[in-house]
Parts: sequence; C-alpha cells; structure tokens
Amino acid sequence: MKSRPSSAKKLFYSMADFNREFANDDACLEYIKEQRWPNGVTKCEKCSIERKHHRVTGRTAYACDHCGNHIYPLTGSVFAKSTTSLKTWFYVMYLMGSTNDSISAKRIQRETGVTYKTAWRTLRQIRRLLINEHLQVEPTPAEMDNGDGSVLSPEDRRALSQPERERQAGSLG
Ligand SMILES: [Zn+2]
Repeated sequence: MKSRPSSAKKLFYSMADFNREFANDDACLEYIKEQRWPNGVTKCEKCSIERKHHRVTGRTAYACDHCGNHIYPLTGSVFAKSTTSLKTWFYVMYLMGSTNDSISAKRIQRETGVTYKTAWRTLRQIRRLLINEHLQVEPTPAEMDNGDGSVLSPEDRRALSQPERERQAGSLG
C-alpha cells in the first residue's frame, strides 16, 4: 500500500480527538453540564442564588458547594431515562456529524459493542432530535417519554409538508 500524505489530517476532528475529549461517561456529563451551566455556576434552588457546583461521585448529579443540594444536568434531556451510556450517545452524534454517509445501526453495534436494538434506538432518537432542531419544533415531554412510539406527531408531519407562505406577503414598502 502507498502511504498517503497526512497534511490534511489536522483539518478533521478525528476519532482520536473524540476519544481524547470524551474519554468516558464522566467527560460527556461534564460537557452537557457546561453547555447548560457554563463555568459550573448555576442557581441553587435552596440557596436561591448562583453557586458553584461540584460533581457527585458515582451519580449524574452535581452538588451545591454551599448547601449540598443536588442538580441533574440530564433532566429533561433524551439522556435522562436512557440506559445507553453517554459515551455511546456522543459517539453516534460524532459519527453523524463527521460523515455524509448514512450511519447504520449495524456499524454502531460493531463499533461500540451495544446491542443492535440499542444502536438502532439511539440512532433513531438522535435523528428525531435533529429533525426537531431543524424545524425548531420543541418536542413535548409526553413525546420525549414515549420511548418507542411514532417519531413525529401529526402536527409535526403537517409542519414538514407545509411550505412557508408568509414570505409571499412580504414587501419592501
Ligand atoms: Zn445551595
């Protein structure tokens, strides 16, 4: 085999980069927490003011530095009730973001070691989230809890098939 020039490598967020940044579930949880509450500061319900929070070992929780009240970064997210590891979730999202090829559940099963069912479900849920994001449709809690129900509500389907009409009315007046 010929060796290929490696000058383009740095342009990509590689698998090695991914594994370095998200080495384990803890790193993924930390990332989610940072997205939600940058700098580790968030309002403590008990103290009623912003407090620093620190990780509670062995739980998906952070505790107020002052009173110890717990907060849960995963609450309300697709990760909250999932038994799939955060790293697997992140890995599937990484794959989907790093290639234009369609990702198969088989590939995820092969590369992460989860069951085919878990791979398929994870993939489907992320696709659903992406669709919702593109449409700027907020999924209701009921839909999120519906683990294996239909992907889109009738309302979402209508939104998908209906073109925007408002633009026609616009003028530069
Ligand atoms: Zn507190």
